[in-house]
Amino acid sequence: ARILVSGANGFLASWIVGDLLRKGYSVRAAVREKAKGRNLLKMYEEYGRKLELSLVNDMNTEGAFDDAVKGVQGIIHTASPVHLDASHPKGKITMIDPAVNGQLAMLTSAMKHGSSVQRIIITSSCAAILDTVPDPTKDSATVSELNWNMRPVEQCEKLNSHATGLDMYSASKTLAEKAAWDFVDANKSTISWDLTMLNPPWIFGPVKHEVSSLASLNSSCKMWADAVLNGDLGGYPDPLHFPGHGWVDVRDVSEAHVRALTVPAAGGERIIVCAGAFVWQDFSVIFPVDSANALLPAPAMSLAKGTLGTVHRAITFDTAKERRILGIDYKTMTDSTQDILTDYVARGWC
Ligand code: NDP
Repeated sequence: ARILVSGANGFLASWIVGDLLRKGYSVRAAVREKAKGRNLLKMYEEYGRKLELSLVNDMNTEGAFDDAVKGVQGIIHTASPVHLDASHPKGKITMIDPAVNGQLAMLTSAMKHGSSVQRIIITSSCAAILDTVPDPTKDSATVSELNWNMRPVEQCEKLNSHATGLDMYSASKTLAEKAAWDFVDANKSTISWDLTMLNPPWIFGPVKHEVSSLASLNSSCKMWADAVLNGDLGGYPDPLHFPGHGWVDVRDVSEAHVRALTVPAAGGERIIVCAGAFVWQDFSVIFPVDSANALLPAPAMSLAKGTLGTVHRAITFDTAKERRILGIDYKTMTDSTQDILTDYVARGWC
């Protein structure tokens, strides 16, 4: 089968493309410019013509994916702006519009021109499920796929809004996911495929996409490196309590996308894909600073070793649905950390 992957040159999708090829799929990798596909073609050279590029230079327009969807059996849509830098009102244009319209353009193209498409997987986010808890030392919550993160949407819709970059990103994911489910609902008599949403929390892991330095890493990996390697908590006041959210290794999220293509029960579902809760300190506690010292030429992780078990984990993501439908065997924080550091050392980044 041939699978279309959008945002193919990104952090997550670069892993997905490799996993699909390894499992025998052909892949049509949608990127904005030819140059952005070069790294993929080189990295997966051994697969020859099983990997092809498709140029979708502006997904914000209807018809953007008309050619890309032709002749594919599945679509994995990861493309979406991912950063926390665009606050109100700029974020409406740079984040929300491309996230929502890009998804709708893909779904519309699949409806009109994707006669062989059987399943569409969209990478949503836990940002569409749960707001960042304002103070994890006081607030805690167990959340499931039944929850929707509406506060940032309301925040972004208010006039004179104080919506932050995180609000804009979260609103873009909530609005895009809702728009996709509404699209499916409105067109169910016409479409031949079904839809699966995967909702990961913060994704960390070694990188495969084209990136030249720690400073130019994708947003989530950069936050990990800033916090764990450089002690820069990006505004979060203390590493023992923040961010108190969920995390998952990129390789497990990739595997979830590939499994979701073929598991019948995944159709029509939104599924949280989460390895567990974390605070920044966990990465130093679980992967002892001594081991980091042995691995890194210099200097070691900058977060001091904390005390395991004293942190208050604010959010528990209910992963019962994921276990029932996909059954991912999650990487541990130790494995993930070890692999990230090994990757960064090999690249000469630390
Ligand atoms: P990256 O920034 O590494 O990749 C994003 C991809 O989307 C890139 O290929 C990028 O293309 C493309 N993209 C961004 N904006 C646009 C646009 N306006 N038009 C077309 N393409 C665009 O991010 P990740 O790999 O981390 O994220 C992939 C998906 O996973 C996203 O949907 C994100 O919301 C979701 N996600 C990520 C999490 C994380 O912690 N990383 C957590 C939960 C969900 P280009 O290179 O050309 O800019």
